[in-house]
Amino acid sequence: MAASLWLRGAASGLRYWSQRPRPAAASLAVVCSRSMASKTPVGFIGLGNMGNPMAKNLMKHGYPLIIYDVFPDACKEFQEAGEQVVSSPADVAEKADRIITMLPTSINAIEAYSGANGILKKVKKGSLLIDSSTIDPAVSKELAKEVEKMGAVFMDAPVSGGVGAARSGNLTFMVGGVEDEFAAAKELLGCMGSNVVYCGAVGTGQAAKICNNMLLAISMIGTAEAMNLGIRLGLDPKLLAKILNMSSGRCWSSDTYNPVPGVMDGVPSANNYQGGFGTTLMAKDLGLAQDSATSTKSPILLGSLAHQIYRVMCAKGYAKKDFSCGVR
Ligand code: NAD
Repeated sequence: MAASLWLRGAASGLRYWSQRPRPAAASLAVVCSRSMASKTPVGFIGLGNMGNPMAKNLMKHGYPLIIYDVFPDACKEFQEAGEQVVSSPADVAEKADRIITMLPTSINAIEAYSGANGILKKVKKGSLLIDSSTIDPAVSKELAKEVEKMGAVFMDAPVSGGVGAARSGNLTFMVGGVEDEFAAAKELLGCMGSNVVYCGAVGTGQAAKICNNMLLAISMIGTAEAMNLGIRLGLDPKLLAKILNMSSGRCWSSDTYNPVPGVMDGVPSANNYQGGFGTTLMAKDLGLAQDSATSTKSPILLGSLAHQIYRVMCAKGYAKKDFSCGVR
């Protein structure tokens, strides 16, 4: 029986029980405290482009953090701000019963959860583990099973919105998992996002995310092509962007994240495509879409082409640049 069915987190900070008989007193000692106090430490693993500003928003909401990243420099500013930095995901799990992971790929998530010093080595019963990385939905389901065996709860909660939305606390979270746990997850995710949407069983958050990013890749390529063509036809890029954004071609890639340098401030194209959402990560997400399309026999003609375009960009040396860098 999933721990979530007998220990439910409550946003109000109150503990309440489902119909299952109360566990014996001895087992109560090992049940975590996450539902009893709202500002107990939160574990955060993966402090990269997204994890860094997300963790800072948790700090702003008064949550003490237990931090881990394989790249020690990523933890420095949190240590300087007085947060606790530990040396493995297992140590995070020992000290926190609510943990958020924000890692690049499925392999990294598997390592952080099931590796030699992974979360599962020291996870406490009743802990709530939220993975906000974009990974294969099948991996999310496998991790959920492993976590459940340990008496804890796993939810997939990938995000949309990019680094800007991560900084301003305006991410959209797509959440999959046991519905009874959604309120407990929302308490934390609401500190980092303005939309927290319950999608269904574990893996459905990832499914929604993969569909979104396939559309994003296609629309970014389309925006880059349209902007490039207009510039070659002699149009001023700022004027062209203004016209697109008041016309039917408008999309997030044209009005919020324009790929042409000089059109907008505060986006990767204004900063030599540094930071933001790496081309390699977009290629990864399109690979997930491709796998999902194959397993569900869904035709994704433009999605497949976008996948190939982003793989070529990686092969040509743009892997670490923001995914909007293919405009030229
Ligand atoms: P990133 O590469 O900037 O950061 C990932 C961090 O995880 C790095 O600091 C890395 O050192 C750390 N890490 C890797 N493996 C680890 C492990 N086993 N244990 C601990 N730390 C580990 O990536 P990002 O841009 O922050 O993206 C994170 C996830 O969010 C990805 O799945 C990505 O697809 C998704 N995402 C990113 C954006 C974006 O705009 N960057 C937007 C939406 C979703």
